[in-house]
Amino acid sequence: MTIKKKIKLIGQYSYFIWLIFLIFSTVLVTYFYDLNKKNQINYLNRSLKNIYLNSSLKRITSELKPRYIYIEHKVKEGDTYESIINNLNIQKKEKKLFLNSVTNNKNINILKLNQKIFFKIDKKNNTKIVNFTIEIDKKKNIFFEKIDNDETFVSKIIEKNLTKTIAFQEGIIKSSLYNAALKLGIKPNTIVEFARLYGFQIDFQRDIWKNDSFQIIYEEFKNEDGSVVEVGNIIYANLNTQNTDLQLYKFEYEKNKIDYFDESGKSIRKTLMKTPINGARLSSSFGKRKHPILGFTKMHTGTDFAAPKGTPIMASGHGIVVKSSWCGGGGNCVKIKHNSSYQTVYAHLSKFGRGIKKGVRVKQGQIIGYVGSTGLSTGPHLHYEVIENGRKINSQKLKLPSGKILKGNLRKKFEVNKIKIDVLKSELISKIN
Ligand SMILES: [Zn+2]
Repeated sequence: MTIKKKIKLIGQYSYFIWLIFLIFSTVLVTYFYDLNKKNQINYLNRSLKNIYLNSSLKRITSELKPRYIYIEHKVKEGDTYESIINNLNIQKKEKKLFLNSVTNNKNINILKLNQKIFFKIDKKNNTKIVNFTIEIDKKKNIFFEKIDNDETFVSKIIEKNLTKTIAFQEGIIKSSLYNAALKLGIKPNTIVEFARLYGFQIDFQRDIWKNDSFQIIYEEFKNEDGSVVEVGNIIYANLNTQNTDLQLYKFEYEKNKIDYFDESGKSIRKTLMKTPINGARLSSSFGKRKHPILGFTKMHTGTDFAAPKGTPIMASGHGIVVKSSWCGGGGNCVKIKHNSSYQTVYAHLSKFGRGIKKGVRVKQGQIIGYVGSTGLSTGPHLHYEVIENGRKINSQKLKLPSGKILKGNLRKKFEVNKIKIDVLKSELISKIN
């Protein structure tokens, strides 16, 4: 074969040769790429197992957990600075430091209901308080901060720059008090307070009828741009059920102590509440309310309040917890002894209130548990019983002695206060019309 012929032959097979070359190089490239990838993975694995990297990863993730926590406490009946601070998980030394700082300060030595306390807690190493703020009133706070290597707190008063306004609203109840009030722009806290005040004499699930109406005068606190940031006290309230007015007047009967009285100076407080539950949350279905417990209807010895699971339940009067445990058909039960003649029972609770144990003393209005459906129950509700001299009685027909009546000088003061509120009311009404 001549050279020419050989070249011609190669030329004939050149496509074939190129194809083989291409396949070969593709295999080669893929192989090296894989090898490289395996090496990279190996390297990464080795690095991840590296103890130093591991420890720094741990440090990074632990730093991602918040170091500071913020706690807001709203003062409840029966609270003391001691009970509040003992609820925080901090060192003994810190608790003492807190108590020393607050008890010596005349601005805040008396705790007021609904007063707010804010804590900033440092969780790193030994848990301690960084600073705390106590509300003096709606316009002023007192701020405490640590100095001298955490050995003392210094305080300063901070103006909140809020303006107080008085609001008046009236509405008609179509589905529930809560919805009617919310539609008018009343803040939930005010609605809950309204229901709590009437909870002494009204059963919110049975005594409220469609087209019943209410009026309310209350304080609001607005910031510079005019939005409501906080609500204050209810000054006056009226609940009209079945054409009967139930009026409440706010009155400061002692310095820093307020309560509500009807137009004849009678306190609305009673030994026991008719609605020992957050009444605002109850949906009143106006008469056609179905019985939550099947089969119990015949010998039903209490009152049922159908309410969403988790709705707070209050002690209906002062007393001592005599039972806080499982009681069979009643599920989780709390029983309170109020005095020698009255006891109350709360059944089907989803859980017990904080610190609610046998032998513990409770105040009226204190949260003792939450609505649930434990035991013999077909849906979340509170089963409430009143026992009078050992006999179960109808809590809703119970005639309790009326609260204390203002007398003498205090009564005169109340009458003046009442006139002022009535004048305020007519002024507010004339502004709307
Ligand atoms: Zn029941």
